[in-house]
This record gives sequence, structure tokens and C-alpha cells, in this order.
Amino acid sequence: MFGVPVSDVPVLSRSLHDRVGIRRTDESWLHTAWHSPEAKVLLLSPAATTPVDEHDHLVLLSPREDLVRGSEGSIRVLLGEAGGVTFFALLAADDGLATSVGARWAGLREVAVGLDDLEVGLLTTAVALRAWHDRHTHCPACGSPTVVVHSGWARHCPVDGSDHFPRTDPAVIMLVTDDQQRCLLARSAAWPPGRLSVLAGFVEAGESAEAAVAREVREEVGIEVIDIRYVASQPHPFPSSLMLGFTARVAGDSTLCPDLDEIVDAGWFTREQVRAARDWGTEQQGGPSVMLRALPPKLSIARQMIDAWVADGGAH
Ligand SMILES: [Zn+2]
Repeated sequence: MFGVPVSDVPVLSRSLHDRVGIRRTDESWLHTAWHSPEAKVLLLSPAATTPVDEHDHLVLLSPREDLVRGSEGSIRVLLGEAGGVTFFALLAADDGLATSVGARWAGLREVAVGLDDLEVGLLTTAVALRAWHDRHTHCPACGSPTVVVHSGWARHCPVDGSDHFPRTDPAVIMLVTDDQQRCLLARSAAWPPGRLSVLAGFVEAGESAEAAVAREVREEVGIEVIDIRYVASQPHPFPSSLMLGFTARVAGDSTLCPDLDEIVDAGWFTREQVRAARDWGTEQQGGPSVMLRALPPKLSIARQMIDAWVADGGAH
């Protein structure tokens, strides 16, 4: 389909490496792994871009290269192992590395869809850790600067002795249907007219994911939902979300009342209408409705859920 790999697993959820968490504090194992000719290093710039080749696949380096050895102040992360190779990430402290590597540098959003499963798992993990380190340099308890430990997987406060681990903030994303086989799509105030997606929102403190689904739908478009079912999850490290995908059905009145704050447009759409919008610009068959002309990018779990619903054509 349009040259894009088809998989049931959301793009950023794909992964093939073993994280070997038990090795993160094994200094002698780490020393050996780092000096092995088989080791590979994924460089990540302060802007979370990485070197890619002419086909937009990752350019991984050997730790022996001067470039990697001379990366003063960078954070070294043990990503894991696959196929006998140990993978590290180097979260560069400044742009010096970026200018000294002769490849094009690209970000996860730009290249993820074309990467193989091993590559996308490595890069997604590195990007998530980069975002966490960049935003969590100090102890949340006492405010002191923390130091990186556990091969980049934790930070330690030398003043009060506390350890801190990478944050993941749960968010829910939900495909809501009605009894006429239509799905609810809405436009966030930040998006251009014609671009619609499913509803989403953060899980609040002390709240279950299911309750967050019902609350967000009620707040954003003023309807009640039932039959809330978990579908799949996808990391969304921009900077630290985990998207939890759900389906749900409208209960009672399906009249949509967008809150006009977060949501400015909302409507019920048939599979034919969604298919027309999705294929617009690629197949030029039919024509999209005025309100729905573009869907979220293939990278997103939103798009994966919409595509799955269109392909399903069944009862839901
Ligand atoms: Zn502290």
C-alpha cells in the first residue's frame, strides 16, 4: 500500500532488541561490550536528530571511532542487544558531533515509517531518553543537580540519595463509533481546516485510562460513551507520552457539541468518507468532504486505528 510496510503493530511500538536491563549496572560487561568491534552507536544530537543514509536508514557508528571517543559531556545509554550486536546511544552534549559527521541528520517523526523494526525500536528509545534527560537534570525532591547512572536509565541525587527514572505520561486516544457505522473525528484548534483525527487526552492523576476516555469525550464533544475497550499502545516520546488506544461507542444522544477551546470541529463520518480523505492526493479517486480532507500521519496510532476501522468494515 503506497510502498509503506503494513503491520498490525503501531510504527513506534515496533522493536527487535533485548533491552538487557540487568547489564545496566554491570561495569565489567559494559566495558567489554563498549570495546567490542561488534558494538554500534546511535548518535543523537541535542535536537534529537540522528545520521541517516541516502535511503533514510540509520547510520550507526563504531565506538572506536574518534568521534565517539571524543564526545565529552555526552550521555552514553545502553539500548540493548540484537543478533549478537550491542547497541548504545550517545546523547550528544552539543552540536559539535552533528557537524563532524558527513551524513544527513533526521528526526524520528521524519524517518520512522521507513525504518525497519530494529531501527525504529532503537531510535524511539533513544529519543525518549534524550527528552527525559533534557528535562530532568535536577532532583525533584531537593533541587540538586543529579548524575546519570544505570547506563543512562536513571539519575541519582548525591545530596539526598534518591534515584529517579524516566517518566512516561499515559494518554488515551479513542475511536468512537455510533450505531450507524460512523466514527467520530474532530479537529484540534492547532490544526489546519480539513485535518481531523480521533479524540485524545492525558490521563489525570488518580484516574483510570477508561475513566479518562469517558471524561475526555464528554469534555471535548459533549457525548457519553460506553463499551470502552483497549486496543493497543504506542510510545510517543514528544516528549514523554505513552498513547493508549481505545474504542468506544456513543450512548444515547450523539449530537456533538465541540468545546470550541481544544476542539473546533467535530463530526460523524462513514468509512467511505474517511477512505476518500485518506486516499486524497495519492489515488485521486472520489473526493473528500469539505470538512474532512486530511488524516493524521501514518506514524501515529490515531491513523493506525482509523485505518484499521476502515479496513474492518464489520460490526463496530
Ligand atoms: Zn535530591
